[in-house]
Amino acid sequence: MKVLKFGGTSVGSVENMRAVMQLIADGNQKLVVLSAMSGTTNSLVEIANYLQKKNKDAARQVISHLEQKYYQVVNVLYNSSEKKTKGKALVSEIFQTIKSFTSGEFTEVGENTIIAQGELLSTALFTELMLENGYKTVYLAALDFMKIDKDKAADSHYIRENITKALLKSEPADYYITQGFICLNADGEIDNLQRGGSDYTATLIGAAIDSEEVEIWTDIDGFHNNDPRFVENTKKIDQLSFDEAAELAYFGAKILHPQTVLPAKLQNIPVRLKNTMNPGDAGTLITATSSGQGIKAVAAKDKITAIKIRSYRMLNAYGFLKSIFEIFEFFKTPIDMISTSEVAVSLTIDNTKHLNEIVSELKEYGEVEVDTELTIVCIVGDLIAEETGFAANVFTALKEIPIRMISYGGSRHNISVLVKTELKKQTLNALSNNLLNA
Ligand code: ADP
Ligand code: ASP
Ligand code: MG
Repeated sequence: MKVLKFGGTSVGSVENMRAVMQLIADGNQKLVVLSAMSGTTNSLVEIANYLQKKNKDAARQVISHLEQKYYQVVNVLYNSSEKKTKGKALVSEIFQTIKSFTSGEFTEVGENTIIAQGELLSTALFTELMLENGYKTVYLAALDFMKIDKDKAADSHYIRENITKALLKSEPADYYITQGFICLNADGEIDNLQRGGSDYTATLIGAAIDSEEVEIWTDIDGFHNNDPRFVENTKKIDQLSFDEAAELAYFGAKILHPQTVLPAKLQNIPVRLKNTMNPGDAGTLITATSSGQGIKAVAAKDKITAIKIRSYRMLNAYGFLKSIFEIFEFFKTPIDMISTSEVAVSLTIDNTKHLNEIVSELKEYGEVEVDTELTIVCIVGDLIAEETGFAANVFTALKEIPIRMISYGGSRHNISVLVKTELKKQTLNALSNNLLNA
C-alpha cells in the first residue's frame, strides 16, 4: 500500500481539500497522512506561547479567531446538514480541549497537546468529507502507533507493531487517513516530531507497513536545485539519491523535514515529491540510484553557532579532540561542521540549549570563542574523490563571499561552507549564477 502525505497548503482551504480528495480517490488502497491546514500550527504555537507568558486574554483571542475560521470551513466543506452538524461538533470538541488549558498551570504537556490539535482537526474533517462523498474511508489515530523514545528518536519497532495492529483492527477500507507530526513520547504523553514533521511521519509509516512508495505532496513541483524563497530561476531536479536528498534535507531544504529520508533509505522505499496543484508533473524521485556525477543542488541551514577552541597545551596534544567531543556528547548536542588545525578546532552546532554549560567546560581545555547568526550553505551532489574540479568550482563561484569555515571530504555528497547569515541570500545566488546555472 502506498503512503501519500499532503502538506499544509495542500489541505489549506476547502477547495484544496476537495482537490486532494479527487486526487486520492482512484480506487487504489492507500494510507494518507495529513498536516494541519496551513497557518494552523503557527496559531497553535502562538496560543501556547501566550499561555506560557500567562497572557490568557491574548491566547483566548487567537483561539476564538481560529475557531471561527474552522466553523466557516465546515459550513462550505460539506453539502448535507447532517455532515455540517457533525463537522461543527468535531471542531467544538477540539476547541474545548484547547480552551481547557486557559485555566490552571500551563505545562509542556499542555503545550504539546495544543500544538497537536491542527492535525487532529484536518484529518477528522477530511475523513468526513471522504465519507460524505461515498468513499470507503477509515480514520486512524496516529497516537495509537506513532512513538518516540526517551532520546526523541522514532521508535520504529513500536510503530511497526502498533500500526499493523491498528490496520488489522479497523474496518477494511480503500483510504486510511491519519495525522502527520503528532506522536506519543517515552512517558506516553502527547508530543511531536518537530515542525514540518509530517514528512517524517510518512516515511516512518511507509517503512512500518513495507510500502512500495511514499509520496510527499506539497505546493511546489519537486526538489529544486536551490531555495526558491531566496533565489529566482531555481530548477526542479528529476531524480536524487537517498544520500543526496538526506544531506539537502538535513542542511535546510524546507521541502523535506530533516529526518525524512532515513526510514525510506533503510528499507529502500522510493520517495516521490509531487505538486498537489499540478499532479500531472512527475515531480522528483528519490531512490538508492545516483542520477550521475556532479553538483546537483544547494541548501542553507540558519541559526548556526560556531565555537572555536584553541588548546592551551599546543603541539602534539593527543586526546584534545576526544575531551572536546565528550562535552558535546554529555550535553546531547550534535555537531554539524568541524574543522581542525594543529592547535585549534572550530565546530558548529544548531542546538544552543546547553551552550553556556558547554562553553564553561570547554574553557578547561583552551580559549573559547563563540560566533552566532551564521548559516551553513551545503552544496550537494555525487562528488567522487577521483574527479577534480568540484571544490575549485565552488570556491570560484564564491570568490566574493567571506567564508568562515569549510567542510569537504566528510562524505562524497557534500561540501559545506559557513557564512554570516546576512550573506546567505548573496551566497545562494552566487552559487546559482556561477555554478548551478552556469
Ligand atoms: P508542506 O506544507 O507541504 O510541508 P513546506 O512549506 O514545508 O510544504 O515545503 C515546501 C516549500 O519548501 C516550498 O514551497 C519552497 O518554498 C520550500 N523550499 C525550500 N527549499 C526548497 C527546495 N530546494 N526545493 C523545493 N522547495 C523548497
Ligand atoms: N503542522 C506541522 C507544522 O506546521 C507539521 C507539518 O506541517 O509537517 O510544522
Ligand atoms: Mg513541510
